[in-house]
Amino acid sequence: MKRMDTVECDVLVVGSGAAGFAAALTAKHEGLHVIMAEKEPVFGGTTCFSAGVVWIPANSSAKKADLPDSPQLALEYLKQEAGNKLSEQQAMSFLENAPKMLEFFEANTHVKFDLLQNMPDYHPTLPGGVAGGRSLRPQVYDGRQLGQWFEKLRAPLRTMTIFGGMMVGSADLPHLYNVTRSPRSMLHAAGLFGRHVLDRISHRRGTRLTNGNALIARLAKSALEENIPIWLSSPVEKLTTQDHRVTGAILRRNGEQVVLAARRGVILACGGFPANDDMRQRFDSKIKDGKYYHSLAPSTNTGDGIRMAQDVGAAFDDNVKHHVAWTPVSLVRQPDGSAVGFPHFNDRAKPGFIVVDRHGNRFANETNSYHDFTPAMIEADRDEKNVEAFIIRDHIAIRRYGIGAVPPRPLRLEPFVKIGYLKRGKSIRELALHAGIDPKRLCATVANYNLGAHSGEDSQFGRGADPFQRVHGAEHDRGPNPNNAPIEAGPFYALRLIPGDIGTFAGLKTDEHARVLDGNNNVIPNLYAAGNDMASVMRGTYPGAGITIGPAMTFAFIAANHISGLQQRNELPQPQP
Ligand SMILES: Cc1cc2nc3c(=O)[nH]c(=O)nc-3n(C[C@H](O)[C@H](O)[C@H](O)COP(=O)(O)OP(=O)(O)OC[C@H]3O[C@@H](n4cnc5c(N)ncnc54)[C@H](O)[C@@H]3O)c2cc1C
Repeated sequence: MKRMDTVECDVLVVGSGAAGFAAALTAKHEGLHVIMAEKEPVFGGTTCFSAGVVWIPANSSAKKADLPDSPQLALEYLKQEAGNKLSEQQAMSFLENAPKMLEFFEANTHVKFDLLQNMPDYHPTLPGGVAGGRSLRPQVYDGRQLGQWFEKLRAPLRTMTIFGGMMVGSADLPHLYNVTRSPRSMLHAAGLFGRHVLDRISHRRGTRLTNGNALIARLAKSALEENIPIWLSSPVEKLTTQDHRVTGAILRRNGEQVVLAARRGVILACGGFPANDDMRQRFDSKIKDGKYYHSLAPSTNTGDGIRMAQDVGAAFDDNVKHHVAWTPVSLVRQPDGSAVGFPHFNDRAKPGFIVVDRHGNRFANETNSYHDFTPAMIEADRDEKNVEAFIIRDHIAIRRYGIGAVPPRPLRLEPFVKIGYLKRGKSIRELALHAGIDPKRLCATVANYNLGAHSGEDSQFGRGADPFQRVHGAEHDRGPNPNNAPIEAGPFYALRLIPGDIGTFAGLKTDEHARVLDGNNNVIPNLYAAGNDMASVMRGTYPGAGITIGPAMTFAFIAANHISGLQQRNELPQPQP
């Protein structure tokens, strides 16, 4: 039998999403010899699909902007969100370390964020909630800085780019909505388009990177400068142990098995189990990826980290309010017959959009967060075999704001009608018949909604009640309430939604240092987990924008500092006053 090659390092990081890169860069900064192993031929995981937003309460940018906050205030908010499921010790570890993590990365790497001053927490009126200052977005990055590695950066979701790979960030969106109304917006859009045309001469997609692609590109640029080996196409298959202590792992590289001896520790950052139907069905037997459910995470996030840790005695922690981070999804059929998902995070909040079930009834406040709205969708169809719902809106609304993968004016919507993504009807009744919704009921629902919408009211569900709901509407655009406008200018459109997720919340049981625990709450020496491999510190709740990547990077930072001994020596950098 062929002898397996053995390679030595101090720290093995498994996975190359936000958690993996954050762990590797922190460990390297502490002088440790790190190797990153990534299963896929591309790096970046789900993080590359994401908006890249991080939730960091009491961060120094908010302080500079005079937005008062503190870890204690944020803890109060998390207690309201997660109730007795919250581990205060772990939550406090996150809240105390998150601002330090942010300062560390902004000072020592290419990672740079902009404060989203006006992005409220998702339940800003709860005690401890704030109306802005906890969420930050990665700054736009020039992918050309990665040189040849740009080709290895996982591309964003196809449904979230335009013109064959042009990325649009949330700061660009207001300009795109106003392109036919404001010369400044038209100039901005022309600049984006011009750059994209130039890019396409030499690259297979746009190199002006926004959101999660920008975050991973920035992290990767720093990792490459630090000479951290990033082994692509190298799935880790098994952890190795000696006397219950994790000593490394066995991975497959170039078709051969390699033993990786990790002297100081292994950090699992494989992105949870969103692509593992069997694991997901333990929580909900109805849910299987396909026509009626869609996970937006990469199909290779199959729970490997969790399985490997369980094989060496780790406990799986499902004491969470929801096992996944929910979002409503629409499926866009591609020319090759496959379907790519689009996450409906905020478009439901625009004026002139309502969502109904197949009986034609509204069932929830559509301006609620995606994580709150999707369970309402599932509940509405509790007695049905499958869950689906429909966004309904009129011609004015769809051309003004677009919907899902359909861009706003002046781009065309006709191709989306042609592929059946959008159903259209001259009247609400005709629309209902085309979309398979009860026509009588839908007419009554729209008429009822319109009654109040003229004066900005939504007597049924109160759209636009708090700052979170209003921020995703369109201020003073179509009337007194940024979230409400009548649905009356035909033709009318329906778009089918199904439940989906952007990642998992249940995961490995860990302590406040991100150490993996066994069923008796004992530490498994030298084994750490970060990102979606660890059970979410938010306990399956979604308190604000960035609550998965913020903790992912923070617990990765904590894990690497713990391995290096910095944490024990209490020498972590302190945030600037
Ligand atoms: C459209 C969308 C938007 C989102 N926006 C946000 C947002 O703005 N803010 C936020 O906080 N969250 C957001 N999320 C969720 C967020 O992207 C994820 O929760 C987060 O990126 C997970 O990071 P991670 O490092 O744990 O995993 P990932 O980024 O998924 O990385 C895991 C990596 O591990 C690799 N891997 C798996 N198994 C193995 C193995 N055996 N060996 C080696 N490698 C392996 C995978 O291939 C993958 O590359 C969004 C998600 C989506 C889909």
